[in-house]
Amino acid sequence: MEVWPGIHSIEASPASNVYLVMGPPLTLIDTCLPGTLGSLTRALDAAGVQVKDLQRIVLTHCDVDHVGNARALQRLSGAEICAHADAIPYLARDAHAHTLGDLPSPGPLMRSLMRATVGRRTNTFTVDRVLHDGDTLDGLTVLHLPGHTAGHIGVQAGRVLFAGDAVFGGRKLRPSPGFLTQDRAAERHTLERMAAMRIDLLLPGHLTPVNDAARHVAKILETY
Ligand SMILES: [Zn+2]
Repeated sequence: MEVWPGIHSIEASPASNVYLVMGPPLTLIDTCLPGTLGSLTRALDAAGVQVKDLQRIVLTHCDVDHVGNARALQRLSGAEICAHADAIPYLARDAHAHTLGDLPSPGPLMRSLMRATVGRRTNTFTVDRVLHDGDTLDGLTVLHLPGHTAGHIGVQAGRVLFAGDAVFGGRKLRPSPGFLTQDRAAERHTLERMAAMRIDLLLPGHLTPVNDAARHVAKILETY
């Protein structure tokens, strides 16, 4: 479903969200859970895109529900995989041969459990481009928004923000659940940054898109 001109929500699974930026280059934001490649492929098809044509994959963070199909998509398309520098040791094999599990899962116990269960089905892959705050990717701007995990990023496309798990979407915007938050102080800083942004549409890693997000984030901060 096209949620903004040139941006589609790719409904691979209700578990987590994947977005397609028509570009060029054809860019996927996150890749959903392991085991969802079939439905992801069909959802891309419905948007008129074949997996082999993907050119870039941006990972908002290292959790398995966001990186599950990264390796398969990389293999099928040759797309360039991009992730923040602080995420690399947790999720990927880069030129220095980090493998999934080289470092313990970042933060709370729940994340370790996710990695030990569903994460076992996530194969390692190569990160082709290491991202830092302020980097631009053909019209997309990388924002380092740590807290949920250290290497968590958002991606800004004009007044649209792909927010990953910096907040959870739905009718009422919420912070990411405390049992998954690696660093609450960093998260507060991230929320403050988001509250100062001009965001017409926030596209979260979970649940539904949110309009007028900065105001909602400011509201979260009142009781944070
Ligand atoms: Zn998530």
